[in-house]
Amino acid sequence: MKPFTYLASGILSGTALGYTLPVEVNTMNHQKADERPPESPQAFESLNIHNQDGDKSPVGFNPVLQAQQPFPVWLTEVTGLTEWPGLDPPYIPLDFIDMNAIPKFPAHDFGVCPPVRDSCSFDCYKCVAFDDVYTCPKLSQTFDDGPSPATPKLLDHLQNPSTFFTLGTNVVRFPDVYLQIMAKGHVMASHTWGHRFLPALSNEDIIAQIQWSVWAMNATGNHLPKWFRPPYGGTDDRVRYIVRQFGMQSVLWDLDSFDWQLVSNERTETEIYGDARAWVAKRPKSGLILEHDGLIRTVNAAIEVNKIIGRDQLTVPQCVGGINYIKEFKKSWWRTPW
Ligand SMILES: [Zn+2]
Repeated sequence: MKPFTYLASGILSGTALGYTLPVEVNTMNHQKADERPPESPQAFESLNIHNQDGDKSPVGFNPVLQAQQPFPVWLTEVTGLTEWPGLDPPYIPLDFIDMNAIPKFPAHDFGVCPPVRDSCSFDCYKCVAFDDVYTCPKLSQTFDDGPSPATPKLLDHLQNPSTFFTLGTNVVRFPDVYLQIMAKGHVMASHTWGHRFLPALSNEDIIAQIQWSVWAMNATGNHLPKWFRPPYGGTDDRVRYIVRQFGMQSVLWDLDSFDWQLVSNERTETEIYGDARAWVAKRPKSGLILEHDGLIRTVNAAIEVNKIIGRDQLTVPQCVGGINYIKEFKKSWWRTPW
């Protein structure tokens, strides 16, 4: 049986917690592009409807039927189940999470913000906590929503190690692509199981979205992620508390490419490249850029952005001097080209 309760030891060791952020906390330096709202659940859904014409959709499929990664025996022992779940997976109680200790901030839907700011909502108020990563000393790209059939093209062109925030449903759907990303020496991180807006969910459903993502990554990559990016930037001190129980740290961003708007024609490649050149010209040349590898069009844009920025970039753990994973069970087989 694959060990499971080591999740708790990752928390107890307090890995990489407690560093000092390079810029002032709780006061985001908003870029011009960041004055627009973050990617909405509605936009995400429409993006995937568009996507069904050309690419294999990164979501909007039946994750139960299309999972390629075998469901491991150790996960049956932990969950009692025998196949990967749907977009809203079942909550499996974990002995290392004290449900009574979770902060009792009320749930809120996307765009329906609490008038009181004490929950430190990022999606509502761009509030960041002491252990959130939201910028980087070097201008660096990050990629969400994969792995997807578009990802290998990005891998062929990326000039530097980067960070991939993967959806569990896509990890088990495209496990071969997941392993390709790993084999190139990139850092694998979590973006939940089914891309739900977490502040709207119950504590149990938030845990389910995270635990199934971690299990998908462990079953496929034999490791436990350290870095977690909430879909739509949807996080507050209730969500963060749960993320920390898994030993993970939340990762946000300070520079948004808005590449997902390419599909709805709200944004052009020219605009994205213009922003990238402006970020390169700015001093200090720093920041964490949000991009996506779920679609071929965003991948094509990311390749051009990579040319504009160049290879002098950092992974998220390098940005803050942290570890790549809480635990890696084997890695002797993979090569690291950088
Ligand atoms: Zn996403």
